[in-house]
Amino acid sequence: MLSALDLPGNASSVHAEGRAARAVVARAREQVAALCGTSSAHVVFASSATEAACHILTPSFRMGRAPVRVSRLLVSAVEHPCMLAGGRFPAEAVTQVGVDRDGRIDLDALEAAIAAHDPASGQLMLALQHANNETGTVQPVAEAAAKVRAAGGIVVVDAVQAAGRLPVSLEALGADFLILSAHKLGGPKGAGALVASGEILMPEPLVRGGGQERGHRAGTENVAAIAGFGAAAEAARDALSVASAISARRDAMEARMRAIAPDVIVHGAGAPRLPNTSYFTLPGLKAETAQIGFDMEGIAVSSGSACSSGKVGASHVLKAMGADAALGAIRVSLGRQTTDADIEAFLKAFATLNSRRLSRLAGENAA
Ligand code: PLP
Repeated sequence: MLSALDLPGNASSVHAEGRAARAVVARAREQVAALCGTSSAHVVFASSATEAACHILTPSFRMGRAPVRVSRLLVSAVEHPCMLAGGRFPAEAVTQVGVDRDGRIDLDALEAAIAAHDPASGQLMLALQHANNETGTVQPVAEAAAKVRAAGGIVVVDAVQAAGRLPVSLEALGADFLILSAHKLGGPKGAGALVASGEILMPEPLVRGGGQERGHRAGTENVAAIAGFGAAAEAARDALSVASAISARRDAMEARMRAIAPDVIVHGAGAPRLPNTSYFTLPGLKAETAQIGFDMEGIAVSSGSACSSGKVGASHVLKAMGADAALGAIRVSLGRQTTDADIEAFLKAFATLNSRRLSRLAGENAA
């Protein structure tokens, strides 16, 4: 990124300086494509995954030059707000599909929603996350995608949380499009991508103007951020090899949490989850209070999703799972750099918060 910042050229310019910047963008495009098992010609860079979601979630597509109309968008009830908002679809064209208590999409409800769609009105689209940003729950994407594709629909997968933690292949998922975010892979904030499985079917551009990104996204590229995105995508591929070690550490951590507080609720624990995520509620303790307690011990955890923290209101993910959302939940994310000492420090803070919780609850019961 630092050397890209030193490049004065605009990636669209024909002079040597422009070509140097273009080469950086081209390399990053290959690195991002390799992460998703596709060709670099299918990657459209954007400013964020949110922008990529707004780009792809649209009723207006083109198959080559022919317009294609999408009349219904199905989203799971636990999507990130950028998908749940439905992009450029009118609210009445968006149907939410429920999830089970672990946060996995209800495939029967999905089938019913597909059956209720009238193909004469236009195509159907499913927008489904690969893994949830609060619980880490992994969706049965390939199964859901097969149902939608059998009905001739388009499948969009939010792979923001899964990329770099699980193998993400457009083909294996049965997806037509993926969205990605650089900063969830260890890259810089402010870069994302829309990745397509081919070049023929594409959404109408969201950002119109110049011909950058082969006309799919106008505006001069942020070369340094894109360079960082590419490098992070390459590093993330290598990191997949340590995923099982991270999940073993997470599972051991949760076993010790249960030993300290047998009533701790670990959300999504009954489903396959991302290796690095633990999302829990201690009954009687508000997540915001616990978060402050952890912060005072130098431990950065989040309550709900970081994107919506500071927002008043209970987690739509917990609500959709039928969990008691009033107290919220704490998300702990482990990473490649997490050490045993970090886990010990976390468990010590967890035990302290738990003791305070139990004393308070005992006092309340006595009163
Ligand atoms: N999708 C998921 C699952 C996310 O976790 C996030 C961000 O946290 C996004 C989409 C949005 O990504 P961005 O911050 O690049 O807009």
